[in-house]
Amino acid sequence: MQASPDTGDTDVLPVAKALQTILSQVSPITDTEILPLKQTLGRVLAADLISPIDVPASDNSAMDGYALLSADLDSQHAVTLRIVGYALAGHAHHGGVNAGECVRIMTGAVVPADCDCVLPQEIAEAASADEVTLPARSARAGDNVRLAGEDLAKGQAALKQGRILTPADIGLIASLGIGDITVMRKLRVAHFSTGDELRSVGQALDEGSVYDSNRYTLHGMLMRAGCEPLDLGVIKDDPASIESAFQQACKQADAVITSGGVSAGDADHTRQMMNKLGDVAFWKLAMRPGRPLAFGCIQSDGHHALMFGLPGNPVAVMVSFYFFARPALMKLAGATPPSLPTIRAISLHGIQKKTGRTEYQRGIASRSADGQLSVRVTGAQGSGILSSMSDANCMIVLHDDQGSLNAGDLVDVLMFDGLM
Ligand code: AMP
Ligand code: MG
Repeated sequence: MQASPDTGDTDVLPVAKALQTILSQVSPITDTEILPLKQTLGRVLAADLISPIDVPASDNSAMDGYALLSADLDSQHAVTLRIVGYALAGHAHHGGVNAGECVRIMTGAVVPADCDCVLPQEIAEAASADEVTLPARSARAGDNVRLAGEDLAKGQAALKQGRILTPADIGLIASLGIGDITVMRKLRVAHFSTGDELRSVGQALDEGSVYDSNRYTLHGMLMRAGCEPLDLGVIKDDPASIESAFQQACKQADAVITSGGVSAGDADHTRQMMNKLGDVAFWKLAMRPGRPLAFGCIQSDGHHALMFGLPGNPVAVMVSFYFFARPALMKLAGATPPSLPTIRAISLHGIQKKTGRTEYQRGIASRSADGQLSVRVTGAQGSGILSSMSDANCMIVLHDDQGSLNAGDLVDVLMFDGLM
């Protein structure tokens, strides 16, 4: 492996290579379930959703006005047409429409077969219940008509397998008249924290101890990723406890995520137990925060689970989860997640950075008065400082080949929240 120029390490793994290796070892689950449409938000579509109908089902009016034959209009003279019927949304006009005739029509109403366009009511020069005078003008067939199938065509895949269903998708499925959807079953992901210094919420904080926050961030991140978290608690740093936690995880979950105890210097038993129970790689990643990462598969009693051993520092846990565990869990769940586009923002200050590793800084992006998107760092960037993650609305992604930045330089920013 290539040596990193700045750190002097000979065995650091670039972020992109690590993710590629992880994804290459994950195969999607195959179990599915059928759910009522309203329960499918955020779930993964198990097969292409084929439209059983055209949407809209028939040509209909995009305007309140008059449905007519474009050939009846005259670009030189006003014309007066006889109104032979009324078409409302849900109430079609069934009679014929001959030359010199038209139908009063409302938005959403089916356009009569004899008509090829709709003119908006505002342009009428004069109108009564029986006739309308339209000004000199021409129209083209199709004007102000929404065509059958223009939204979704019958027989086509309205949504693709792997889609993570959004509110718009759910509405779209309803527009096809489909009420039950086959989705992938939810992933069960076990997680636990390791470290003798950890105390759980509700316990007293004795000297040198810290409250375990990682189980809570992980719970939240897993929920957001559409998984069912299974909290196995704080596990003491002794081989029997760790082994039994892994056994439970194998039995009950598709994947297990641990935090703490994966650094090379760690004297604890987490690493040893991961090695004993599975086929696990321990990496030093060319990234900050989140340098150590263990990844592999563990087995027990004929059960197995994908395993992510994340570092212990609270921000490192989040960054490693988002950039490694989450994409892998998405693949395991059978999902094709939408790509997360980075956007370019102006850094409001200089940032110190070493080349040869990827750095994720916690940022607050905002639009300045001149309309430019700018970003500032949320203060201290230590990998244990969770408040600066909580303050942030984005990650500033500083790539391997980037060095230090000056104020005013453009940087890549990954926003935390999308609209849907
Ligand atoms: P480790 O990766 O186990 O060496 O832990 C690195 C740092 O993260 C140490 O300061 C730990 O106390 C802290 N840490 C580890 N696990 C947790 C946790 N679950 N919640 C909060 N801090 C943690
Ligand atoms: Mg530890």
